[in-house]
Amino acid sequence: MEVQVLQPHGFCGGVRRAIALARAALREEGTLFVLGPLVHNREAREALRKEGALFLDLEEKDFQEAVLSLPEGARLLFGAHGHDPSLEDLARKRGARILDATCPFVRKNAERIRLALKEGRKVCYLGEEGHAECRAVLSEFPRIPLYGRDMVPEGGPLLLVSQTTMGLGEVEEAARSLSRSHSPVEVLHPCKATEERQRALLKIQEDVEALLVLGGAESRNTMALKKRAESLFPALPIFLAEGKEALLSLPLGGYRKIALTSGASYPEEPFLEAERYLRSL
Ligand code: SF4
Repeated sequence: MEVQVLQPHGFCGGVRRAIALARAALREEGTLFVLGPLVHNREAREALRKEGALFLDLEEKDFQEAVLSLPEGARLLFGAHGHDPSLEDLARKRGARILDATCPFVRKNAERIRLALKEGRKVCYLGEEGHAECRAVLSEFPRIPLYGRDMVPEGGPLLLVSQTTMGLGEVEEAARSLSRSHSPVEVLHPCKATEERQRALLKIQEDVEALLVLGGAESRNTMALKKRAESLFPALPIFLAEGKEALLSLPLGGYRKIALTSGASYPEEPFLEAERYLRSL
């Protein structure tokens, strides 16, 4: 089978940085507590676990309780998509040493919101309720409405801030809808990595017969990538697989050419393995 590899794909700078930070800390001391999943990929987490990482409260149910259960003096790593600042205070009170992998794109969004609110501007947030980044933003700025859930006070200019991992179509749709009741609507789009991976879909060649997106359903930007592909190419068969087993179970044998991409939390090694497998079909 012929394979068109889409570029860019896979790990973004923020995920790379978070993993590098975790590895450096593990080399230094051997044990590291990590709040949340750090990277939305099972294999990458498993590798870190083997090196000594202890993931707290993977289901993100009760971070406070997880922080309160830390042993005195523990090192705690916060992930790339931000966190509730009160958790950091709580961890410090427990005597924990903080490492923070918050991605610069996530930080920039928070700074823009802070500034806009200081200037008295109206802000609306577009995000997935329950996602770490959305939770972090809404806990730091509890008064801003979440698009689709809260009422957005009508009239005047508005700053629409998108979670960094949203689909471009979702953002366009929200901006279009809000511009009926607000003017002008300034939009802070998803991060560059999310945008570039979604834009790369436009490079899919005409003779491609199917698309394979590597990544897990737990990864927001992977699902946004797949959804974007579905809306751009409604007639193209699109497959999603995270691990080797899932890949082997896909009915891909009948295609002559396939396009291959992966979400921002998918490591390069299994990507190359998948590419080799596809070429062998
Ligand atoms: S997806 Fe974007 S915001 Fe999230 S870690 Fe990667 S670069 Fe940063």
